[in-house]
Amino acid sequence: MAKTDCVIRGGLVVSGKGIARADILVGNGVIQKVGENLKAPKAIDASGKYVLPGILDVHNHPVYADKMDTFSISAAYGGVTTIIPFFGNLAAWGTPGKTSEGIKKMIEESERISYLDFAVHAAFFAEDDVKAEVPELLKMGVPSFKMFMTYPKRGMMMPDDKMLAAMAVAAADGGLAMVHAENGYAIDYLVEKFIAEGKVSREYFMLSQPNILEVDAVQRAATYAALTDCPLYVVHLSAREVPEIIIGMKQEGRRIYGETCPQYLSLTNQVVLERGALGKVGPPLREKEDNEAIWRGLASHAIDTVASDSCNVRVEQKEWGGASKNLIAGPGVKPRPGNIFEARFGMPSVESMLQVVYHDGVNSGRITLPRLVQTMCENPAKIFGLYPKKGVIQEGSDADIVVFDPSIPSTLSAENMHSNADFTPFEGKEVMGAPVFSMQRGEVIIEGGQLRRKQGSARFLPGNRDLAAYAKNGFPVE
Ligand SMILES: [Zn+2]
Repeated sequence: MAKTDCVIRGGLVVSGKGIARADILVGNGVIQKVGENLKAPKAIDASGKYVLPGILDVHNHPVYADKMDTFSISAAYGGVTTIIPFFGNLAAWGTPGKTSEGIKKMIEESERISYLDFAVHAAFFAEDDVKAEVPELLKMGVPSFKMFMTYPKRGMMMPDDKMLAAMAVAAADGGLAMVHAENGYAIDYLVEKFIAEGKVSREYFMLSQPNILEVDAVQRAATYAALTDCPLYVVHLSAREVPEIIIGMKQEGRRIYGETCPQYLSLTNQVVLERGALGKVGPPLREKEDNEAIWRGLASHAIDTVASDSCNVRVEQKEWGGASKNLIAGPGVKPRPGNIFEARFGMPSVESMLQVVYHDGVNSGRITLPRLVQTMCENPAKIFGLYPKKGVIQEGSDADIVVFDPSIPSTLSAENMHSNADFTPFEGKEVMGAPVFSMQRGEVIIEGGQLRRKQGSARFLPGNRDLAAYAKNGFPVE
């Protein structure tokens, strides 16, 4: 498709280093020049607005109410231009098979239906043959592998010996291990204890998955990563104790990357107390002190990225369980309303991600706007091997650009979002600032509140053995 050259004029261009007024000349899908008084046949006025690299959402699950089609639309409205979903074997959908086969299928489908460029992480489950699959996936351009250290009853937990084996194979081949760090045996022990005592209402959920179990798993995963010399990325950090622990590890020179999500920055267990199952995520929403410690971890470079962990599910799927794999009690058990342990995990958060982090982070003085760009654009692109093609506004990079207007007030509501999920945990939250325009590889995606891109132009971004080449020594703490 022919692409018109254009200039994005007069905006405040943000990078991890700072903010500077500049024009951006876009041609042939890439950024041709960043400078002053640039001319092109078409101009987009960005004066009074920030110009950010397109947001990368490197943690999401577009396999529920939203598949890659509507998920990518919802993400695009939130200022995201690149998504990295977790795909795995298709056993949960009734077709058991290899991880690599499931992922091949999902990549083919995503190339057809996604509206945004995407890379893929593999999600491994206990039954997967990780030793055989890691080399296969690396060949396919899937170099990052997530393993669950929790949910043993749901068949999702990777036994420690298999996790070590996967890390060793990944390390040898240039891959990256990702872990959901919670101690699953201890969580199941507590959940069963609460159930036996009849304590199944919403106030027992957070208590069943306490902070120390996240701390324990982060330390254990880091130990295994050190043993196997494998770089480690810990997803969705939520416990107040963890940033200090990661700082200690980074100061020892370990290659460990930390991620958090908007829900662990801006929501507390109060959402569960008020809305029950709709606030159920793993790890759980915790307390105000945890939010603040995670913000400080983001500011101090203990935590490197913010991603959504968006599971776009509908209210009836949340309250009535759904796939039996999602039930703590195991396959074949019908969930009962009012029993928090039988409700489905997960919440939608991708569309509001940028607005929430901008408002509660930048507007509230907890992080700077350049730090937001580091954690939502530059670092994710560097860690997952997409930099400098993605994640930065500079000559030669893909023209993936978001114009953000800091003066637009809005009230977040599921009603105004573009997902098939019919709720948002951020319902009613007032925020200042919104993305108003985006493009990918020079093609307009969102303009004037309308989706302008068509299906079929999204590209799969294979990761290669240079994964994390720009993040080789980790990101030092400041
Ligand atoms: Zn997740």
